[in-house]
Amino acid sequence: MSELEQLSMLIGGRPAGAISGKTFATENPYTGQAWAEIPDGGPEDVDAAVGAARAALDGEWGQMTGFARAARLRKLAELIGENAERLARLEVNDSGKLYREMLGQLQGLGGWYHYYAGLADKIEGAQIPSPNPNYLVYTRREPVGVVAAITPWNSPLLLMSWKVAPALAAGCTVVIKPSEHAPGSTLGFAELIKQAGIPDGVVNVVTANSGEVGAHLAAHPGVDKVAFTGSTATGRKVAAAAAEKLHPATLELGGKSPQVVFPDADLQAAANGLVAGVFAATGQTCMAGSRLVVHEDVHDELVRLVAERASQIKLGDPFGEGTEMGPVANKMQYEKVVGYLQTARDEGATVAYGGVADEGLGGYFVQPTVLSVKPTDTVFREEVFGPVLAAVTFTDEDDAIKLANDTPYGLAGAVWTKDVHRAHRVAAKIKAGSVWINAYRVVAPSVPFGGFGDSGIGRENGVHGIDAYLETKAVWVELTGGTRDPFTLG
Ligand code: NAD
Repeated sequence: MSELEQLSMLIGGRPAGAISGKTFATENPYTGQAWAEIPDGGPEDVDAAVGAARAALDGEWGQMTGFARAARLRKLAELIGENAERLARLEVNDSGKLYREMLGQLQGLGGWYHYYAGLADKIEGAQIPSPNPNYLVYTRREPVGVVAAITPWNSPLLLMSWKVAPALAAGCTVVIKPSEHAPGSTLGFAELIKQAGIPDGVVNVVTANSGEVGAHLAAHPGVDKVAFTGSTATGRKVAAAAAEKLHPATLELGGKSPQVVFPDADLQAAANGLVAGVFAATGQTCMAGSRLVVHEDVHDELVRLVAERASQIKLGDPFGEGTEMGPVANKMQYEKVVGYLQTARDEGATVAYGGVADEGLGGYFVQPTVLSVKPTDTVFREEVFGPVLAAVTFTDEDDAIKLANDTPYGLAGAVWTKDVHRAHRVAAKIKAGSVWINAYRVVAPSVPFGGFGDSGIGRENGVHGIDAYLETKAVWVELTGGTRDPFTLG
């Protein structure tokens, strides 16, 4: 495998191969060819990384002020910007996502480090009024400790940064475990850590060709908190492991997000939002707006508009300038999407466009697909994680809200209407962590993101995103110097 790009893990500040010496090849879903050789770490590598993270916490990093951590986060943000092209390339090679989307995402990624750098020197405790005047009481906000950051394949560096930026700002150390399907860009990111002046062991990355290493990390006795993004099924296992160890877990899981379109909506804008919501990134985003809930009077017109746009989407090389949709990111996911399309046809879906794989291009291409379905159809209920829009109709507002909330998930949703009263009324009733009004698929470092129900626990991003990485300690100071009855409380 000598022609493959060689990438290393980062453990204790040093580029590292797996202790076993094993490697695995990661595949480019567009070419179908292996492109990089990745260390195939095992539990012993996780142990080493967690040990290094603990030592860093007990060392220089643990003593560093928030001001000093902020300076390093800002430097890291700059380095990410300078290396955006390389990181975007690594990500496209692994995931088949569009280079122009990834480049934009990577150029903006530093924003998360700048945002949390801005909070690192503002972590404040409080002086608390005590009912007993003999005590001064104050709180300290301390880092939770060693954080396991486990990420999926669809947006590895973005979703990693939602964890790593607040964790470092809080003073934690991290062990990152990227997905076996897209580990390359996280290893590229690891190369920047030393240059940012971040001490050895503060950031560690372990890669492996299986989820078992993630399981070992999530259950590790040396880990104080797990921050996980991935499927709901794996999230349940991570939550169970965290419960066993009694350490906190933040879980960002799957979704089946509704886009509710009222008859007064700007249908051109809604069609564009539907395209952004389910065809961008080949539909492989947790927040994919894959359930269209549309008023019966405008169903035909809206479906026609989306199908027309879908028919014009240019599939092809993710590095091509005019390409709008790349392949599905890996064989397993491709087979899953193709399976859902077959199920949709078997269950009687009406195909307005697509509905099948696109075999002409090689790679794992699926046609952007627009279906009209019944609310009971599988494709309307389960997360496809591919470019598949399933539409149902409603008759009135109550019906629309019922259909929108008829899912165990609750990650995101949208309301399309020109009626300002209805827009806010319906947004308040959609059970989801993010609701866009006349928009879709916008995120920012300052805005909380996360799910209701089966979409997860906790929120990432925003001012309170850092709280997930901090413990509160109450300190009581006796002021009189006297002694008190030792057999009474307080
Ligand atoms: P996945 O659950 O298969 O894997 C996620 C990560 O967990 C990988 O690194 C994997 O190696 C690791 N893992 C596997 N088994 C584990 C275990 N038992 N314990 C600990 N870690 C384990 O998910 P995926 O297929 O990589 O990603 C797609 C899923 O992620 C979709 O369901 C999608 O909706 C979800 N997702 C959610 C968000 C969000 O912010 N809510 C964002 C992106 C993706």
